[in-house]
Amino acid sequence: MSRMTTPNNATIAGTDVDSSINDIITRAGTMAPLHTFPGVDELLATFDAMAEANPDSITRRRIGTSRDGDAIHEYVIGAGTKHILVYAGVHPNEPIGFHTVQRLAEDLVKEPELLRSVEAVWHIIPCIDPDGARLNEGWFANPSDRAHYARNFYRPAPTEQVEWSFPLAYKDAYFDRSMPETQALMRLIDETHPILLVGLHNAELGGVYYYLGRDIIGAVDDLHAIPTALGLPLDVGEPESADLHVIAPAVFLAPLATDHYDYLESLGIDPVAEVSGGGSADYARRYGSVTFIAELPYWSHPDAVDTRPSGVNYKDVLSQKAEGLLELGAVLEDALAAALPHLQMNTPFLRASRAFVPMMAVLGTNEKQRSEHPDSDREATIAEVFTNNDFVRCFRLRFGGMLVRAINAEVHAGIAPTELRHIGSALNANYTAWIAESDAVEGLAVLPIERLVGVQYASTLAVAARLLAEPAR
Ligand SMILES: [Zn+2]
Repeated sequence: MSRMTTPNNATIAGTDVDSSINDIITRAGTMAPLHTFPGVDELLATFDAMAEANPDSITRRRIGTSRDGDAIHEYVIGAGTKHILVYAGVHPNEPIGFHTVQRLAEDLVKEPELLRSVEAVWHIIPCIDPDGARLNEGWFANPSDRAHYARNFYRPAPTEQVEWSFPLAYKDAYFDRSMPETQALMRLIDETHPILLVGLHNAELGGVYYYLGRDIIGAVDDLHAIPTALGLPLDVGEPESADLHVIAPAVFLAPLATDHYDYLESLGIDPVAEVSGGGSADYARRYGSVTFIAELPYWSHPDAVDTRPSGVNYKDVLSQKAEGLLELGAVLEDALAAALPHLQMNTPFLRASRAFVPMMAVLGTNEKQRSEHPDSDREATIAEVFTNNDFVRCFRLRFGGMLVRAINAEVHAGIAPTELRHIGSALNANYTAWIAESDAVEGLAVLPIERLVGVQYASTLAVAARLLAEPAR
């Protein structure tokens, strides 16, 4: 492992963190326009070229192998005793991080001042789940069209997601089938005891929000200032889960699988139906690692960021969402049950469908229960109405789309019996209607990818700088 600058400890100690962060935000605002996402091979070729051109400052090291046999590499920059892990493609349908890792690595290699302001060993993994990312490549060249995105979308079953397949032994939950990609990350965490663990995720629609392992001095102000500087809104819609702990607006405490388990149990819901494996935060907390995640949407809508009162009761919003999810679950369960006897291939789309389709009913029932809680009897904001409605649209597009792909895989392979083709056609008619419903939403804005990347880049560097500047704990 090599270093590219000789650090001057006096200078580091005297570095003004605020001015470093201003510099980081300025850099984040200079990204050239981006309109596509790179495929896996293109992304890795960029990193290999960077390592070949800068052998003294960036080192490639193999850390594992994907299930389909791809070598997984990390690229190491910087020196010291503190380690920071940044990994992209952790959910393979979330490729904003593919651009973020490129820009992060390029700047840390080329800008000694920047590296000095975040002096640590940076372990950058461009793509932790290459097999999953390849199944999303169909939409990477044209990411702005939501229908095209949905028809080419793939999200693995939870036990095949790197983020949620860490080992877990908690009450009635037990999981130890971590896949090779997750094991590669676990080995790296065990080896480096990182001070900071940054999984690069992104959301779909709304505003910018974050998950942070703990409150770090100065970090929240940065996390609010960065999207403001880049002209992106903070998220004010329905949070991903009702049990999230809010550190500040749009900044949530990084959730632990064990806490979510307790929350579901407290509601009288069987936690094992939702909680399978542990998350990266559950695993890395043994080393005191801070988890950081920046969630960025591809699209926004004026209503998604409007906190004015809607005139609609929140309990009715949740009740309608519950009905939508239950109805979606029923349509998909019928189609899956009818298709299963005819399906011959155990594709990732089928495995994902088997995992997600029954969850629609579980989530619908949970939301129905939440709608009946006295706390839900209040006026909803316009953002809450829009984002809860969009949650159902999003799930129709995602999970309907993956079941269509599971059936089409066999049709395209020329092995689908007539019955299966007919089941596929009927499902596709429903799916086409869901696509049309989504297309009919007016006012959707496509957010500039380079600004989303800028937020992820700047927030990662800012959190690192704040953490490194903290007095020893
Ligand atoms: Zn994610």
